[in-house]
Amino acid sequence: MSVFPNLIAGEAVPAREVVHNINPSDTRDVIGEYAMASREDAETAIAAAAQAFPLWSRTNALQRFEILDRIGTEVGARSSEIGDMLAREEGKTLKEATAEVLRAGQLFKFFAAEAYRANSEGLPSVRDQIGLAVTREPIGVVGIITPWNFPIAIPAWKIAPALAYGNTVVFKPAELVPGSAWLLADIINRSGLAKGAFNLVMGHGSVVGDAIVSSRQVAGLSFTGSTRVGKAIGHTLFERGARMQLEMGGKNPLIVLDDAPLELAVDCALQGAYLSTGQRCTASSRLIVTPGIHDAFVARLIERMTALAVGDARDQATDIGPVVSKAQLAIDEHYLEIGRTEGACLAHGGERLNRKTPGHYLNPALFTQTTNGMTINRDEIFGPIAAVIPARDYDEALAIANDTEAGLSSGIVTQSAKIIRHFRDNAEAGMIQVNLPTAGMDFHAPFTGRKQAGYGPAEKGSYARDFFTAVKVTHERFI
Ligand code: NAD
Repeated sequence: MSVFPNLIAGEAVPAREVVHNINPSDTRDVIGEYAMASREDAETAIAAAAQAFPLWSRTNALQRFEILDRIGTEVGARSSEIGDMLAREEGKTLKEATAEVLRAGQLFKFFAAEAYRANSEGLPSVRDQIGLAVTREPIGVVGIITPWNFPIAIPAWKIAPALAYGNTVVFKPAELVPGSAWLLADIINRSGLAKGAFNLVMGHGSVVGDAIVSSRQVAGLSFTGSTRVGKAIGHTLFERGARMQLEMGGKNPLIVLDDAPLELAVDCALQGAYLSTGQRCTASSRLIVTPGIHDAFVARLIERMTALAVGDARDQATDIGPVVSKAQLAIDEHYLEIGRTEGACLAHGGERLNRKTPGHYLNPALFTQTTNGMTINRDEIFGPIAAVIPARDYDEALAIANDTEAGLSSGIVTQSAKIIRHFRDNAEAGMIQVNLPTAGMDFHAPFTGRKQAGYGPAEKGSYARDFFTAVKVTHERFI
């Protein structure tokens, strides 16, 4: 069986402990053994990144462009192979997985070009004979900790800007899905970077993640994951004065108003709630529907759900792959039970499905007749489960949409320009989708959550430099 080592200071570093990467579509298929770093390995990687920082931070724009562009080219050229790995280890369909890999390549190319953009500005002083300059500098060693659900795109949108702006990196992917992250790391490791400018340490959050979060040599941490872990590490980072960018959980609403074109509304709900097996932070888990379209919407959504092919992620005919792991399946079933107990009507799905291979297959589920106070509408489930919440009118729908601790993505389907404008201005979320699913953002646009969904500067696009650079202000008297 293939063994995949950590990559520290440009070298392959095996570990005493390994984890098996298991295919959720066929649990007999062990993809490989992945090194689980120790705390000492993580500290070695951090020290290597600190040592490489003076060298990498002084590279010129052309050198950075060429390396990042090269990485983007190789990732794009290998999208089928890496996409196959992603579908095999995570369970999203081949189509989704390949698109995610292509996006990772595009992100590297976008940030390659960012290396050329001006990062400084001169301001006119309010005093005579005084110059005023605002310059930006890389922050130093950056820790990057990522979740399992976008195992290559999220690492790409953090690692690429970190390097483009001159920082060095210690990267810890999710222990559950390390395969496509390892392939990306291997490409980065061979790209011509200074030794130590990029390091991969795979392993447990409580060991490797904690070592990165706690290290005084790590100037900033970019984290995506659950709100629970994000909040916990936030305390440690604050205590030691480190920068942080925390992208956390969602509980995203999709409002469907009476004037919505039915097929479009159902399409948005179906894609937003169930594609990628509902395992997206931007998934539409709350479908808030007004009375004039409610019954037709529910009936048509169930009709479309019935036609979904749930199966092996790498089978071309599959629409919805398996749940990522046994543990996540247990969480999904736990919430299905809570929904029933709290009086929601399970209108469709929710049962395990048997397929040719042993996998974590769950029929996508729809609850109806729910209220926003129910646990299934408060907690992020992170599975193929959505709930319809009836609302009297737009005003009530908006109030329900905003009644959540998470403010990540918020969507609406309507033809009214007046309501669209009002919704954009009043929805309490970092990202708004109009007549589109709540999931699916352009790769060069900023990504950001409000309330407990996000903390710190936005990710992606040129906005990424607000986290990955520090501003310095110089006043200078001309003599
Ligand atoms: P998770 O919080 O369990 O783990 C995320 C990462 O943190 C993993 O690499 C894990 O090993 C690490 N970690 C765990 N404990 C740690 C600790 N004590 N110190 C340091 N690191 C630690 O999340 P997950 O289950 O991998 O991913 C699912 C979650 O991610 C969902 O809540 C989802 O909404 C969220 N997510 C958010 C976004 C976003 O951009 N807002 C995007 C994707 C996923």
